Amino acid sequence: MCKNHHQHDAVTAAKISPEGASRRKFIQSSSAVGAGIMLSGLVPSLSSAAPVSLKPGEYIKSKGYAAFDESGVLKPWEFERRPVGDDDILIDIKFASICHSDIHQMKGHWAPQQYPQVPGHEIVGVVAAVGKNVTKFKVGDRAGVGCMVDGCADCDTSETRGEQYSPKTKFTYGHPDERAPTGITQGGYATNIVVRDHFAVHIPEAISFEEAAPLLCAGVTTYSPILKFDLKPGDKVGVAGIGGLGHLAVKLAVAKGADVYAFTTTPDKVNDIKGFGAKEVIVLEDNDKLNEYRGQLDYMINTLPVAYDVAAYAAVVKPFGTYTQVGMPNGFTVSVNALALSSSQVNFNASLIGDMQETQEIVDYCVEHNIRPEIQVITASDVNKVWESVVNKTARYRYVIDSSTI
Ligand code: ZN
Repeated sequence: MCKNHHQHDAVTAAKISPEGASRRKFIQSSSAVGAGIMLSGLVPSLSSAAPVSLKPGEYIKSKGYAAFDESGVLKPWEFERRPVGDDDILIDIKFASICHSDIHQMKGHWAPQQYPQVPGHEIVGVVAAVGKNVTKFKVGDRAGVGCMVDGCADCDTSETRGEQYSPKTKFTYGHPDERAPTGITQGGYATNIVVRDHFAVHIPEAISFEEAAPLLCAGVTTYSPILKFDLKPGDKVGVAGIGGLGHLAVKLAVAKGADVYAFTTTPDKVNDIKGFGAKEVIVLEDNDKLNEYRGQLDYMINTLPVAYDVAAYAAVVKPFGTYTQVGMPNGFTVSVNALALSSSQVNFNASLIGDMQETQEIVDYCVEHNIRPEIQVITASDVNKVWESVVNKTARYRYVIDSSTI
């Protein structure tokens, strides 16, 4: 455990520019250092740290918490990240929150994994260095990273949509990456991260880092399908599974003016969920209770990260309504009874996170509408303990790691 990582991570406030020609304003600039590096100055908040230059191709030292096998037990690990390329930014991570997907993937529930592997795809921090082509960010900017970190060369304009469906897109951890010294991408339970600028979003000052973090996966994963359904005020919207994703789905649908029906298996969440603005909270001991709501809702989003009977839940939606699966159970598998599903004639679909435009939108939307996730900030050494709480459904509702404790 090192309490002082910022003293060596926050120092990489250099702009890499072979020409030494930055069009942006910096507080301070100096002559080229080393092999074509321009040291472009420090932002005031980082000014207590001594600057160091990054050489082209230099690996970035990082520390994090990694899984070493399918037990999923996380331990401190020092490793190196890929160099900061011309289109990349280096982020000094301030907070990273915990998604159920982190647990599934580290434990090999979805597919065999390469270890060591650092999880985490809800990441916020301060830009510490930028490549020479980067115009979207400058050193000192607040930035967030979700489930994607890199993509194809020509898919990074602001008009690009649907990056999560591009075969060139690299996901934030465990994704093969020829430039990474470890051979795979490594996630955000760490002191820093290198990401292509297109795959980072701006985090406005009006939201705290720790509250912004869960929006980068849980937020956009629920926002994207809700946005596509084009909710109208007064629509009846079901949300099943009120955890990290579900509690945000409730808040977002309420903000859109929907009457929200929240389905949970945890009785002691009822008061919380009413506080989020739900019209009705239905505690399910078994699926029989779903019959009372048969054919009543316009739309439903299901966040359950475990296997369950889809048709029983889909039946609460009106015929020709829409039902979206966003939770990802073991093996990515849910069971569907064809007859039961056909007899409710619901449009069943599944949705994977959201694209980069939607990721920026959810952050801005939550700022504008004063929507915040319910969070508990933890020290990194508690991460294994709180993972158990996520699985046991005692998390309320998103754990956020304070990266200064790594
Ligand atoms: Zn996630």
